[in-house]
Amino acid sequence: MRDYDFKTQPSLLIQGAMDTETAYLAEKLTEHEQIHIGIYSFHTGFLGEEPVVLSRTFQGMTNAAAATSLALVHFSPWAVINQGIGGGHDKRFHRGDIVLGEKVVPIGAQIRAFSPEGTGIDGTAFEPLPIEIFNTKKGAVEKVCDFPCDEALLCAAERVTAGVRAARGVIGSGDEWNNQLDRIALLRERFGTAVEDMESAAPAQLCFSYGIPFIGIRILSNSIVNGEEFDESVGIEGQKFILLYVEELSRMRKLEK
Ligand code: SAH
Repeated sequence: MRDYDFKTQPSLLIQGAMDTETAYLAEKLTEHEQIHIGIYSFHTGFLGEEPVVLSRTFQGMTNAAAATSLALVHFSPWAVINQGIGGGHDKRFHRGDIVLGEKVVPIGAQIRAFSPEGTGIDGTAFEPLPIEIFNTKKGAVEKVCDFPCDEALLCAAERVTAGVRAARGVIGSGDEWNNQLDRIALLRERFGTAVEDMESAAPAQLCFSYGIPFIGIRILSNSIVNGEEFDESVGIEGQKFILLYVEELSRMRKLEK
């Protein structure tokens, strides 16, 4: 047994909302230990040489935010990967394809234009609502409309594309599941989204706030824009990609040393 203190020594935090997005990776961990903090479970161990904390966040933004916050207090992540399944907004991505997040946009953060009583609801009359964050690097509060993913993490993800269709794209994220094709087209037009999920904006926001490198990675389990129905089993393929990705990150880190 390596004497590794996950509380104080750096590890890679890998998050997934559901078992379909985490169980395969948990099985691959060596020196695996499971820790419960409140209602959330974290698995510590190694993927190859890489110290990893695997976090099962449960679905949705509040759970993802809470699990991230706990992980930042109880462990010492050098980077955070939020991964799992998602629904396609862009016809170029099909079920089973992978979106490597170039940024995450909180699609639910919208300010709606005033309309008088009785005039109906115009779903197009909104602007992005900037979100207040405390930027620890600047030591000040600022308002932002999206959260960038880390360029070095993205480049490393792009090096792991053998055998899979993966490309950069914007991840839209909120407590919503969109099925109206016109609304999806509008979100795509306003935010440039390739895929939507229900978690990644929360860890992306916190990592941006705390100055921790972050990436969102989503494999499409459904693409209503292509008429492709939901199949959550692609979550396993997503985790296989993450396994290769962690190997690549280990190589990257060895070269940096
Ligand atoms: N059988 C599960 C399926 C949940 S799918 C259940 O009923 O609970 C919802 C999860 O998959 C969320 O965590 C979200 O991040 C992701 N997801 C997949 N497709 C999505 C879509 N089209 N819109 C939003 N979230 C989606």
